[in-house]
Amino acid sequence: MRIAFFDAKNYDKPSFDRFGSEGGMDFKYFETKLNEDTVELAAGADGVCVFVNDVVNKTVIDRLISLGVKLIALRCAGFNNVDVKYAKGRIAVLRVPAYSPYAVAEHTMALLLTSIRRIHKAYIRTRDFNFSLAGMTGFDLHGKTVGVIGTGRIGQAFIDICLGFGMKVLAYDKYPSAALMNGGRVKYVELSELFSKSDIISLHCPLSEETYHIINEDTIKMCKDKVVILNTSRGALVDAEALLAGIKTRKVGAACLDVYEEESEFFFEDYSGHILDDDVLARLISMPNVIVTSHQAFLTEEALSNIAETTVKNILDYLELGRCENEVTL
Ligand code: NAD
Repeated sequence: MRIAFFDAKNYDKPSFDRFGSEGGMDFKYFETKLNEDTVELAAGADGVCVFVNDVVNKTVIDRLISLGVKLIALRCAGFNNVDVKYAKGRIAVLRVPAYSPYAVAEHTMALLLTSIRRIHKAYIRTRDFNFSLAGMTGFDLHGKTVGVIGTGRIGQAFIDICLGFGMKVLAYDKYPSAALMNGGRVKYVELSELFSKSDIISLHCPLSEETYHIINEDTIKMCKDKVVILNTSRGALVDAEALLAGIKTRKVGAACLDVYEEESEFFFEDYSGHILDDDVLARLISMPNVIVTSHQAFLTEEALSNIAETTVKNILDYLELGRCENEVTL
């Protein structure tokens, strides 16, 4: 069984080689992303394995089918980069719905603490033997209100962490969780109330037409002054230009971004020797109260192992049994 593996990184290979060889699967690793220009590399493969920034549009899907490829195995949860509607009935799309919600939830809290306690500044300062505390004043999380948009696996793991810090939790979800409501652990509110009452807002919903730019000029206006915005979900949930404007006017107190709307151009690659062409990203990164990580929230040993194990199982289930519980069906 041959699988063309796109956007391959060195950290992917050990776990995919281990689970792949156990399942009789031969992964052919390509560093390039899958898109209209690179789709020919899938010739001879039974399936393709893709990640968050591969582009699987109509043209790519048609060409995959004509090359005899039978499935698209996403090694991630989100599938906004695949034209799933078009794929339906043409080629199977499989995904890894959960691999470690804790990896993403813990990274979100790491970003928040780093930002509000100025750890990123302290790290640089003390390495230069500068032990001054000027400008380092933070604030307690205890007693603050966090608004969580999307209370699925990651949102709930993040809520647990926040409750451990003694924070109050407001939540919004299109499909509220009865378990969270009945436990009385969170208060579900309308989005407008969440925006107006939260000191910190964290995004954990998928990217869809409904959630596109859920943080925008208008919703930022509804927020408390100095609101802290956390996005470890998908870049296009936030209108980056509106966020930048909110930071410039001091309305937004801080932003922590593991994802960025135009990230596919840059994230996962080393651009340190280049001039960054994206002015909004460059300006955001230049801000003292903005922390950007390059879509690394998932990157723990546990998550990598779970991703490989589930992806291999998905492919085997589909190719050998003709069905897979993790097939994306709309
Ligand atoms: P999940 O499916 O368990 O939870 C998503 C929640 O969002 C669900 O409760 C759903 O009801 C809710 N939702 C759907 N539409 C909504 C809407 N319009 N408004 C509000 N809520 C809505 O998914 P998860 O495992 O918790 O992952 C959440 C997101 O995190 C994924 O969609 C993905 O984009 C992102 N993610 C990021 C990374 C990373 O490395 N940064 C890794 C994994 C996942």
